Amino acid sequence: MARVGRAIGAVVAPLTRFAPTPSGYLHLGNAVHLSVVSALAEQSGWQVALRVDDLDVDRVRPEYVDDIFQLLTWLGLSFDVGPTSVGELTRVWSQQQRIELYEQARDEVMASAAPVYVCACSRQQWQHHVGVGCPGKCDGLDLGLVAGSTSLRFRWADGVDPVVWRRDGRPAYHLASVVDDTWLGVTHVVRGDDLLQATQFQRVLATWIPGCTFAGAQVTHHRLVLDEHAQKLSKSAGSQAVPLDRSDAMRERIRELTRELLAG
Ligand SMILES: [Zn+2]
Repeated sequence: MARVGRAIGAVVAPLTRFAPTPSGYLHLGNAVHLSVVSALAEQSGWQVALRVDDLDVDRVRPEYVDDIFQLLTWLGLSFDVGPTSVGELTRVWSQQQRIELYEQARDEVMASAAPVYVCACSRQQWQHHVGVGCPGKCDGLDLGLVAGSTSLRFRWADGVDPVVWRRDGRPAYHLASVVDDTWLGVTHVVRGDDLLQATQFQRVLATWIPGCTFAGAQVTHHRLVLDEHAQKLSKSAGSQAVPLDRSDAMRERIRELTRELLAG
């Protein structure tokens, strides 16, 4: 399989992406986000790719994937690159088709001088951990990366060493995201400001993956739509259990919230 990076000399056209995760029905916050991405793309003359983050096979369901296509159509949001049906996603665009690329990126990070280490500590051990490195001081133990028992972590900040490769043998979100954006040729990223720290980390991680272009991408963060308790909508109970109400009133609300967020 080709390297992660684009061919040298390839024409780079400005491209942003929708990157929904089909592990539930999209909620109002997701809809407003997609609408903001589309509006910025239109204003700026960027093309749009649809990147469906379907790595988590335990939670992804065809009806959630279909919900993405239906919501985009209902909102009148178009894209230029990517799947237009569940079948096309499965055959061509699914993250399951890029496992080799993620593995290659992981191997390159591990072979580089990046400050990564294999960690055997459990989620419970990490939960209340403060201080440098991991709770079990795995760094220096020269552990092997074994699906089911260890993960790959990046030494980042006290108490926070992001996962690069998960214990269950799958790429972590950060690695998959920068590899995918490179694979698609994404030059402009629009995301919620809950991902500010993720962006910081991903820019650094990207510099350790040969050919990865994420560090050079322009990233714009926007405010999130909050619920009446000032919580992220995705945290609201049941916000993704049923499809978003497809009424004219809801569409108008989405447009209004989009205008508000774009106004700053
Ligand atoms: Zn550890």
